[in-house]
Amino acid sequence: MINDLPSQAMLADNIASVQARIAQAAKRVGRRPEEITLVAVSKTKPVELIKMAHTLGLRNFGENRVQDALPKIAEFRHESIEPVTWHMIGHLQRNKVNKVVGSFNYIQSVDDLQLAQAINRHAAELELRIAVLLQVNISGEASKEGVAPEETLALAQQVVTLPQLDVQGLMTVAPQVTDAEEVRPVFRGLRLLRDRLRVEVPQSAWQHLSMGMTDDYGIAIEEGATIVRVGRAIFGERIQRIP
Ligand SMILES: *Cc1c(COP(=O)(O)O)cnc(C)c1O
Repeated sequence: MINDLPSQAMLADNIASVQARIAQAAKRVGRRPEEITLVAVSKTKPVELIKMAHTLGLRNFGENRVQDALPKIAEFRHESIEPVTWHMIGHLQRNKVNKVVGSFNYIQSVDDLQLAQAINRHAAELELRIAVLLQVNISGEASKEGVAPEETLALAQQVVTLPQLDVQGLMTVAPQVTDAEEVRPVFRGLRLLRDRLRVEVPQSAWQHLSMGMTDDYGIAIEEGATIVRVGRAIFGERIQRIP
């Protein structure tokens, strides 16, 4: 099967319509579009396409597999393509932390203390601070990664004490549903949890809510998303991997 890649014109069209929909969603709830960062999820896509998206003005890219992402990040670095911000959005195993710290700028998928401590240790070795979000499993689906909502406060209190971590907020992955409206309570739940952390863990500003993907980023923005992670609406459908 051929993985059809969009042409530059098609990619430009896709980006423009995603940005227009972000602006419309923001406007519906009296927010400014500039408050929302578009992370283009480039997982499974070749680096040539990511470079094209960068040429067209995108600056934030999300990847979910360390092994796939590292060569892409290395190529941007090698060619001095800047500015660019890389977001780790997939489940991260502790034994891969050494590869992620120093390559990615954001780790959005921190969901337990030992992982956070490992990131802190490696960041200290490299003398850098790394931006992190705590991934929360709001919907409680067994298949989803993330800390349980009721355990988030305890995790937050510990993670903010790690000096190399710049804790910036929360991330969630909503369940797949047929009607995107069904996920609104999940996004609202993440925002309410964030509001509580602002009061109870004031060491962080908790400024970011990373929520919303191709099928539901409009609703996520209405519910307060500051980061949306959009793959298919920008780069086209992904070919399913055979596990
Ligand atoms: C793949 C992925 C996305 C993007 O999903 P699309 O439906 O392609 O927009 C966002 N977040 C995470 C964590 C992902 O794994």
